[in-house]
Amino acid sequence: MNHSPERITLRQPDDWHLHLRDGDMLNVTVMNTARVFRRAVVMPNLTVPITTVEAAVSYRKRILDSTPVGMAFTPLMTAYITSNLCPEVLEKGFRNGVFIAAKLYPANSTTNSAQGVSDLRSIDSLLETMESIGMPLLIHGEVVDRDVDVFDREVVFIERHLVPLLVRFPRLKVVLEHITTEQAVEFVDTSSSKIAATITPHHLHINRNAMFDGGLRSDFFCLPVAKRERHRLALRKAATSGKACFFLGTDSAPHLRAFKESSCGCAGIFNSPYALESYAEVFEQEGALDRLEAFASEYGPVFYGLPLNEQSVTLIKQNQVVPDFVEVLRNEQTSEKLVPFHAGETLRWTLLMGPNK
Ligand SMILES: [Zn+2]
Repeated sequence: MNHSPERITLRQPDDWHLHLRDGDMLNVTVMNTARVFRRAVVMPNLTVPITTVEAAVSYRKRILDSTPVGMAFTPLMTAYITSNLCPEVLEKGFRNGVFIAAKLYPANSTTNSAQGVSDLRSIDSLLETMESIGMPLLIHGEVVDRDVDVFDREVVFIERHLVPLLVRFPRLKVVLEHITTEQAVEFVDTSSSKIAATITPHHLHINRNAMFDGGLRSDFFCLPVAKRERHRLALRKAATSGKACFFLGTDSAPHLRAFKESSCGCAGIFNSPYALESYAEVFEQEGALDRLEAFASEYGPVFYGLPLNEQSVTLIKQNQVVPDFVEVLRNEQTSEKLVPFHAGETLRWTLLMGPNK
């Protein structure tokens, strides 16, 4: 990596946590990721979750078919864990190079998670297999109990479920996804090298006030929800610390405008269109631009045991105004809207299009 006050060239990054959705949405989501990221770990929580090797292969094909000509992009597929999933399915998918990992959603914790797991003990045989074959477990780490305050759900999950799980499976590789609290930072930081965490751009930029700024702002509602300012500061410190256990995962999770704005608005922030620029701004503000490449392009592949990307991308110091909407074409006549993270704001860095040859 080399950087000057005006220009950063870094090894092409990967996104280690991404929701591409399906159908009409794929053209937009895939293009916005593939323009900068070489690979992405694709979440399996479609309307019909990805629970078989065949479904993952077919979803991967739809993603590749939606990748613009000339862009090199590798989707890394995940399995959606349910209490009924057989260990043999995970093992087969992992050994065949289809599944890179499996995702654990506590039942009803977020979008399309109704078929997630209610009792973690019920998947012990899956975890045993994953531990023995070295397959990473990716966790949405929140309890769903209604008697636990929504802002405490990550911390309670770590204490109540993750700690005992790691006692039962001490050699299991785990990524605690999209962490949001200083307690999660501390937990990952002090755990073994088999435990890592992804950090999103939005949790580095906003605290919970963003959701209530002059009214109810559904564009800033995501799960886990943004927390108090002190947690945001802890996340910024972790992301820019140069510690290999923290790496890039956008959790970009688009919902059409109508679903964000309903009386029960969906959780998720569509940040992929300006994700790298957004992270760069944080690293610059923290005086850590020299650590951006490791966070974005090195620690993830090292954790997953994959090669580093060969190509590079360049950001230049040039203001750009983020548009209010990104269009999703439904058919030739109609389109719908997605609101990108940072809509209407000016970002200080701009990506030069396409990886350098
Ligand atoms: Zn997610």
